[in-house]
Amino acid sequence: MLQKIKTFLLDFLLPRRCIGCDRPDTWWCEECFRMVSETPTVSMDEAPLDRLIVAAAYDHPLIKRAISALKYQGRTEDIAPKLGLLLTRVLNEQAPSPCQTLVPIPLHSSRQQERGFNQAELLCQAMVKHSSGVLRLNSALLKTKETLPQVGLSRSRRMENIRGAFCLGSEIEKDSHYILVDDVVTTGATLKECARVLKKHGAKEVWGLVVARN
Ligand SMILES: [Zn+2]
Repeated sequence: MLQKIKTFLLDFLLPRRCIGCDRPDTWWCEECFRMVSETPTVSMDEAPLDRLIVAAAYDHPLIKRAISALKYQGRTEDIAPKLGLLLTRVLNEQAPSPCQTLVPIPLHSSRQQERGFNQAELLCQAMVKHSSGVLRLNSALLKTKETLPQVGLSRSRRMENIRGAFCLGSEIEKDSHYILVDDVVTTGATLKECARVLKKHGAKEVWGLVVARN
């Protein structure tokens, strides 16, 4: 509800303009979205993640702009569905098996309240829609510890900062395959810590799927 009011006000105060061509009434028009193609990179040595899939290149100006518009400017409409479509296509290529559960990387509740939404959850919701419900969403993880921003920390400090920050907030099915979803990955410390928690509670296989690596 709050998000709807925010969107309404944002549309009123700041009419939508495409992040690519500036045309009105959309944050990302179909034509500009077609200029972005999936360029997935897959890495297998990110234990405890079994696989890390990065869908597109962060240095593509439209990807960079889309992520920043979504996350920092709250332009969730048009942008979350399109990034979700990109992720769905990449996941279908990488994992033809349909029975997977998406788990968004959570924000701490105070951060989520401040932002009004969790961008990773919006991406998952879009993916569920694009897959016609074949993909399932389980917001199983909670972030219970407030952490320092990972930006600017060394690799080892990032691991230390994020360690113990997540716990399971709802049941997960044991021996299942989970896909952790986020907008960007840097060192992967957050995704790995979340994978560790899911595996500790019986997940059989955990992949990470993100839009881009910055
Ligand atoms: Zn455009």
